[in-house]
Amino acid sequence: MATLTTPTTPLESTNACATAVTVAHGDGIGPEIMQASLRILREAGAKLDVETIEIGEAVYRRGVSSGIETSSWDSLRRTGVFYKAPITTPQGGGFKSLNVTVRKTLGLFANIRPTVAYHPFVRTRHPGMDVVIVRENEEDVYAGIEHRQTDQVYQCLKLISRPGSEKIIWYAFDYARRNGRKKVSCFTKDNIMKMTDGLFHKVFDEIAAEFPDLEHEHRIVDIGAAQLADRPTDFDVIVMPNLYGDILSDVAAQIAGSVGLAGSANIGDRIAMFEAIHGSAPDIANKGVANPSGLLHAGVMMLVHLGQCEAATLVHNALLRTLEDGIHTADVFDVAQSTQKATTEEFARAVITRLGQRPEQLRPVSYQPVAHQQATRMIARREPEVKEIVGVDVFLQWTGGAPDELATKLISTGTAKLPLTMITNRGVKVWPQGFPETFCTDHWRCRFQNGTVISHRDILELLERVTASGFDFIKTENLCTFNGKLGYSMGQGQ
Ligand code: NAD
Repeated sequence: MATLTTPTTPLESTNACATAVTVAHGDGIGPEIMQASLRILREAGAKLDVETIEIGEAVYRRGVSSGIETSSWDSLRRTGVFYKAPITTPQGGGFKSLNVTVRKTLGLFANIRPTVAYHPFVRTRHPGMDVVIVRENEEDVYAGIEHRQTDQVYQCLKLISRPGSEKIIWYAFDYARRNGRKKVSCFTKDNIMKMTDGLFHKVFDEIAAEFPDLEHEHRIVDIGAAQLADRPTDFDVIVMPNLYGDILSDVAAQIAGSVGLAGSANIGDRIAMFEAIHGSAPDIANKGVANPSGLLHAGVMMLVHLGQCEAATLVHNALLRTLEDGIHTADVFDVAQSTQKATTEEFARAVITRLGQRPEQLRPVSYQPVAHQQATRMIARREPEVKEIVGVDVFLQWTGGAPDELATKLISTGTAKLPLTMITNRGVKVWPQGFPETFCTDHWRCRFQNGTVISHRDILELLERVTASGFDFIKTENLCTFNGKLGYSMGQGQ
């Protein structure tokens, strides 16, 4: 048990045994809540040697499209710990999301978002809710590889890798075990995306077998999301690919009580970032009324990450006690449950006054140092499977007419090794034997294969013929087998 003692002197940033941490005060309510949170952490005895960097709106306005200066990366890479207030992302104008850039550049592959109900002290539809969402943070459609391919059709690539899936899923099971959780659920849409989400599900089943002490289950994301919103107490830890995790962790935080209360950790092999899940709330900026709890929760996660478990325990219990005593900022204030509508400053003072106290009704926390905290496991090196090309999909922009007309024109471009076998439009087979009811855009996927192994040169020969016939090809995708197993999907209706 971590002993609950009131700390003596607040630690200064020059403290010799303090841990260097990079801090950004952000935009909107960011500076207000960061100041409040840092004050509480220091009063609790956190040993932090703060390096401040500037990120966000001011940097974007200077023309830096990533929102972060090169010199700030040096601080992040040096300290390996980033405590970040929310920032405002300017709309449009080619500005890149700083969060996505930081997560991907620093390899922060796991996004951990605990969502807890503080019933009966904060209004919630789900008393007893206590769910941790572990979101994959680097892959999926967040690879951001998008193209306008034709006049009518735009594409975003969804990339799911085996090492990426192994890392996040192993992390989720290990997190569950380290934190005394009982069950890990996985949400995917592998009934539709059999290869990408199918891989995530397959890896989930493989890794679950390494954790026989934990229950595991898989749900299709649509029904899983509905059940999470309706009966969140059925869930414990949920691991998801990036997009589902992004959406559902906000839903989970909101139904637990308020997005203003939740913090998150972004974990990488060497570097970690801690932040509130909410944005910069420009509508209430500079009014001194913002709720610092989300950022403070993130601060607690940071202290646990740094092994400063006693300070983390003190802060978390004091925060719970403050909420329990009805001292609430305006976003969660409710005349039926609250005793005081507190400003950011008053809330911070209330938490500081309660350092050393424990909640009486909410479950107190007690963080323990983890003897050997291993964020990731070594991914076992796999022998690459034998890859053979057995055909090619050629994507065309074409507005000539019905699919049969396209097929008639295109058949003559095929070769003995690569004859035309199928045409789909938005994934649905329209030739041979398509239905006239199928709506077609100007974007056609034309499959050429005859079941034999082919070479790149065969594909180039085919493309020469396609081009010579006046077709506008957009791109090709090779049809491959891996150890003889198909590495591509069939057309819908094929
Ligand atoms: P938001 O989360 O900032 O605000 C949504 C609503 O919640 C607002 O009504 C706001 O007043 C309220 N709210 C949020 N945090 C609160 C708090 N701590 N205390 C009290 N009330 C709080 O979302 P938004 O308005 O969609 O976005 C505003 C800006 O934040 C945008 O520029 C967006 O790009 C950015 N953003 C940044 C991050 C980040 O830096 N991690 C995350 C999300 C959004």
